[in-house]
Amino acid sequence: MPRTPLISQAQIRTAVVRLGAEINERYGAHELTVVSVLHGALVFTADLIRRLDMPVRLHTVSARSYHAQATAPGELQVQADGLAELRDRHVLLVDDILDTGRTLAHLSTLIRAASPASLRLVALLDKPSRRSTPVQADFVGFEIPDVFVVGYGLDHDGRFRNLPDISVLAPAGTPGHADAPRPGPPGDTLDLRPE
Ligand code: 5GP
Ligand code: MG
Repeated sequence: MPRTPLISQAQIRTAVVRLGAEINERYGAHELTVVSVLHGALVFTADLIRRLDMPVRLHTVSARSYHAQATAPGELQVQADGLAELRDRHVLLVDDILDTGRTLAHLSTLIRAASPASLRLVALLDKPSRRSTPVQADFVGFEIPDVFVVGYGLDHDGRFRNLPDISVLAPAGTPGHADAPRPGPPGDTLDLRPE
């Protein structure tokens, strides 16, 4: 399947630096417990935590939503052990992409049940047009349109996580493809044309 460049390594680096600065400013010297949603957020989390100045603990959970096709959300499977440790901690839940919102809404509910001191959400990518569950990230890297992306931790069928940049994966002529017309004004979403 063809891939069309969407977000370059340099653009990702700039966004991670900005997000790190925003998080440092918001929390000051308070210790932070970063909860990374595996596998997708692994690469992003590794880069983001190295931009944080406060003491940081790292916790992981796993979430898998089976996409039968690249665009259809499937059954959500979550593995989240040891959440009791989050009690009275400042928790930052980090995911690669906020799509329908189901994953982060579900994980937020599980984490809130552990009575953290605070909970905020970070998403490298946000597809607001796809939201079916009302959830908003406190820190967002990029708003993108309704396309299926891979790279920088994001996979298709287990592959492409190692790509250093983010690209659109879609057969030419389908709605997710970069050349396809998109409904509505682009707003502050990214221009999909390759550089
Ligand atoms: P949500 O629960 O918000 O619908 O979806 C979140 C999860 O779906 C993400 O963590 C990611 O694993 C997967 N996902 C959603 N959109 C995309 C996409 O464009 N590309 C990839 N690779 N995964 C996606
Ligand atoms: Mg994921």
